[in-house]
Amino acid sequence: MGKVTGFQEFDRELPSKVSVAERVTNYNEFVGLYSEEKLNEQSARCMDCGIPFCHNGCPLGNVIPEFNDAVYRKSWEEAYQILSSTNNFPEFTGRICPAPCESSCVLGINKPPVAIEEIEKHIIEIAWSKDMVKPTAPLVKSGKKVAVVGSGPAGLAAAAQLNKAGHSVTVYERDDNPGGLLRYGIPDFKLEKWVIDRRVNLMKEDGIEFVCGTEVGKDISAEELVRGNDAVVLAGGSTIPRNLNIPGRDLKGIYFAMDFLKQQNKRVAGIEFDAEAISATGKDVIVIGGGDTGSDCVGTSNRQKANSVKQFELLVQPPMARTTHMPWPTYPMLLKVTSSHEEGCERFWAINTEEFLGDENGNLRALRVHDVTWDVDFMGRPIKPTKVEGSEREIPCQAVFLAMGFVHPQFEGALENLGVEVDERKNVKAKEGVYRTNVSKVFAAGDMRRGQSLVVWAISEGRECARKVDEFLMGHTHLESKDNVS
Ligand code: FAD
Repeated sequence: MGKVTGFQEFDRELPSKVSVAERVTNYNEFVGLYSEEKLNEQSARCMDCGIPFCHNGCPLGNVIPEFNDAVYRKSWEEAYQILSSTNNFPEFTGRICPAPCESSCVLGINKPPVAIEEIEKHIIEIAWSKDMVKPTAPLVKSGKKVAVVGSGPAGLAAAAQLNKAGHSVTVYERDDNPGGLLRYGIPDFKLEKWVIDRRVNLMKEDGIEFVCGTEVGKDISAEELVRGNDAVVLAGGSTIPRNLNIPGRDLKGIYFAMDFLKQQNKRVAGIEFDAEAISATGKDVIVIGGGDTGSDCVGTSNRQKANSVKQFELLVQPPMARTTHMPWPTYPMLLKVTSSHEEGCERFWAINTEEFLGDENGNLRALRVHDVTWDVDFMGRPIKPTKVEGSEREIPCQAVFLAMGFVHPQFEGALENLGVEVDERKNVKAKEGVYRTNVSKVFAAGDMRRGQSLVVWAISEGRECARKVDEFLMGHTHLESKDNVS
């Protein structure tokens, strides 16, 4: 433990951010770095709990008190080794993870939790700057070949681990560049894309092959991939967006969030696209959906200089503090106030859209909405909305972004080709901890298997799935598991 009294001496502090007025003029990341002294103080706040709940809170099982201690002692190589033993890509999670570890931090019971996510980002950035992050191509090759379908965080983590185990790994990606939603979903202002390039370049140096612009099941048959490899990992994500099939859905001006976000990410990267350009400039924008995707639409609309930005959520606003039903601090997981909301957005909770209204030219002009109340179960969880009679009203807008989540992976192509079974939620059926599908030699990981989730879960699934593939190929595995970190 770095400093026994640290949690009493120092308050939680986050690095400074570029002002709202300046950051909305561009798509750059805007969170700064700590000074060495501040980083030292923040790591000193860790209490090195007897039972570190943060380990369990983190889907990767990150060994948090130990790396905090190393940071406090400025033992950078040690901190980096501890962190990278459980997480292949701390530079992604250190920037965009909602940090379930911080919701589990014991200090959070009566004080703000340790700034674990920021400390993680600093460890990895210091490691890159001090040239500690080096290619680690395996010394002995197994002679086995593995194909990974999809290059999001799940596919990348599976590829990195399988390569480490000595297998020859090829990653197939239908987009023009690797990264999955890290590249073409999450905006640059949360994660600049050189961060992905830097990691992918290292993976290439490690010997992993990337085949981009190739859709498995269309440009190359999935059966061929299975025949030509000793194992295949499906990590294609959950890509089919939830629609809002209400009257007026065909009007011009209603878009799926991902179509909007992907275009902007391509624009920032200087990559041309064929589709009709979607723009928020000068418009009154309504974002329907209150999660990460919704807040990314808010941030992007503000940067495109929308006239106004509103965000609708069907649920009630989550509690800002402990309640009888929720005694454990929910900060920061459930708060869902993001930096995009600071940039200008009127939020509406417990509101339902019943109709899109258009003008004579078929363009969207407003939404007809009403308020709802929620029946809750004994835990206080919302179970059924009821319309508040008399609350119907029209809210003018010229652009709507649907950000209500994703329902399941794409079936046409790879999944259909192979006859992969899906579960009752229509995700690929492969039990957690086992990751095997009904098709021989074929495994699945990430959002494609667990449904839409988080980057940290995708990395965790990729790593755990790689262990199962390695066991399948070799009869045993030496790859680390989150269940046996000490
Ligand atoms: P994906 O990242 O979806 O990657 C799947 C890849 O597979 C894609 O590149 C796709 O093109 C490729 N693919 C699919 N089928 C084929 C095929 N047949 N052949 C070849 N390639 C194929 N999580 C967080 O933790 N923090 C955030 O801030 C956050 N923000 C988000 C913002 C948005 C807009 C969205 C949509 C999600 C966000 N998430 C966030 C969730 C997170 O991005 C996902 O949970 C995570 O990326 C899932 O990883 P994955 O590897 O399973 O799939």
